[in-house]
Amino acid sequence: MLAYTYTAPGRFELIEKTKPVLLHPQDAIVRVTLASICTSDLHILHGSVPRAVPGITVGHEMVGVVEQTGSEVTAVKPGDRVAVNVETFCGECFFCKQGYVNNCTHPDGGWALGCRIDGGQAEYVRVPLANQGLTPIPASVTDRQALLVGDVLATGFWSARIADIRPTDTVLILGAGPTGLCSLLCARLHRPEHIIVCEPDAVRREFVQRQYPDVILAVPENVEQVVRQYSRHGGADRVLEVAGTPDSFRLAWQCARPNAIVVVVALYDQPQVLPLPDMYGKNLTFITGGVDGCDCAEILRLIEAGELDSEPLLTHTADLADIEQAYQLFASHADKVMKVAVRCTGE
Ligand SMILES: [Zn+2]
Ligand SMILES: [Zn+2]
Repeated sequence: MLAYTYTAPGRFELIEKTKPVLLHPQDAIVRVTLASICTSDLHILHGSVPRAVPGITVGHEMVGVVEQTGSEVTAVKPGDRVAVNVETFCGECFFCKQGYVNNCTHPDGGWALGCRIDGGQAEYVRVPLANQGLTPIPASVTDRQALLVGDVLATGFWSARIADIRPTDTVLILGAGPTGLCSLLCARLHRPEHIIVCEPDAVRREFVQRQYPDVILAVPENVEQVVRQYSRHGGADRVLEVAGTPDSFRLAWQCARPNAIVVVVALYDQPQVLPLPDMYGKNLTFITGGVDGCDCAEILRLIEAGELDSEPLLTHTADLADIEQAYQLFASHADKVMKVAVRCTGE
């Protein structure tokens, strides 16, 4: 089968590999219909994920059809269409039992697929701990609608959930890349009074304006002023920091009102400064994060009910044979690209 592979530092190649087989009773083999490309894949390519293992197939965003299951897999059966969770988790350790599946202590726990073990930018993928890692897709939900459920949509859903958004809140979202947009989609589920999105890129602001006309737009230069204008208490009640740029962490706490919740979803290249003397008395709650991706069934239910729709983010589609060009497109932000759906075996 064809598999897009991390062959050496700085190098991915589409190569022929043997089809994966079941290695453990809790494994499932999934025929990948669609996969997507994530910024984390680029981080592996650029060497900023030291735990990524050369030789592995990359890709951790995919949907497909279960082809084979181990003897202990009960949650899905061959023939089921499934969303694959970016995280594998045991469901039994201290962290899993509290829903903190990102910190699962199982050897395959956390982000393993497409990082430490073979992932899904390929025709087939072996998913360990399949009872937790695969979620059946409802019949009325298409593969394209479900493609982002296991990773960016899970992150957006989780960030909005832990932000504890109330109906009277003004919510500020920093960053309108794919994860920022998924955070926006999920923040809307909580129906706050105002949502402000701060994004320096004009193409991304235009995307937000077209798709979600009720959202208030800002740029880093005027965001503090815009937030004050739309806030009852001098600053945003909730801030979701999804940008991860040199300025965005500072903007996150500066735009927050006293006693606000600031959810830091972003992954930074550099350490950030927490100037405690400047924020003394502001009494902020910071929640830092890596997604606990354990709400995929609920996310799929919301898609089925028509309350959540991430399909407009799939601005481009490519075949697996052309994945290298798809990566170049995604990395360059050219042609107004947001996400690329890669057809691995066809729906
Ligand atoms: Zn990702
Ligand atoms: Zn666990």
